Amino acid sequence: MKIASCIRDRQVLGLCLVEEQGVKPLDTILDMHFENMVDLIEKWDEIQGELIKKAALVPLIPMTEITFDTPVKVPKRNILCVGKNYLEHAKELEGQTSSISGVPEYPIFFSKMVYETIGTEDAIEFDKSVTDSVDYEVELAVIIGKKIKNITEEEAEAAIFGYTIGNDVSARNLQVEHVQWYKGKSLDTFMPLGPVVVTKETFAYPPKLKIECWVNGEVRQSDYTDNLIFSLSRLISTLSQGMTLLPGDVILTGTPSGVGMGFKPPKYLKNGDEVICKIEGIGTLKNHVVTKN
Ligand code: MG
Repeated sequence: MKIASCIRDRQVLGLCLVEEQGVKPLDTILDMHFENMVDLIEKWDEIQGELIKKAALVPLIPMTEITFDTPVKVPKRNILCVGKNYLEHAKELEGQTSSISGVPEYPIFFSKMVYETIGTEDAIEFDKSVTDSVDYEVELAVIIGKKIKNITEEEAEAAIFGYTIGNDVSARNLQVEHVQWYKGKSLDTFMPLGPVVVTKETFAYPPKLKIECWVNGEVRQSDYTDNLIFSLSRLISTLSQGMTLLPGDVILTGTPSGVGMGFKPPKYLKNGDEVICKIEGIGTLKNHVVTKN
């Protein structure tokens, strides 16, 4: 099942079930209001069965009338991120922003503060006086579906609501200058997300999906989402030890090799660039770059 936050004629339509040819508003299907994705996730267990039954009775709004907004506009909490979680990416980072050499023994967690995430077709904007080295990182984003703490790896799948695509846009100069990654990951517009959330039962677990990033028509990153050093279950279980995770929390699970920083010379984003992040079965997250000063 695919769910998106939709816009029609520049009006917010709200959360919709996404089908091949069009969308159906959840509010209409279920005759109740959903404020946002987190609100839906919190009610999911009660409404999931009804949603499937009643959706067939509601007419489709054609896809040609719809644009997608980001599925989780204002996350309740910081985005949870994982560094160095694909082997080839860990290798290309040798001697760069991290002091941890080689393949990590434990997952490397950090967080990304988000004012608002941006959706597909929105602009990644930055001021050149703040950063001169902005990079892309396509990632499988996991959206947590339940309040969890101290869960085992075997219990992790049940805690997932669904998946979307994230681009962990990063200002490399700020990561280096401030040693810690937080500031360089957290500039406004640096969290493109979407276009849709695919609920977890759609894919066999763990999902093995082709993941790619293209810049101006050139493929830069290409891998499969089951090539993680630390599996989704390991990440979720480890994060939950001693730390409560909530419905709607977003975990970026790491990026494959091919980031701009890994090239010699580096290939950083510049004004007018088009960045396309794709994950098989989820869709395409497309953003363009706008710089100032
Ligand atoms: Mg990342």
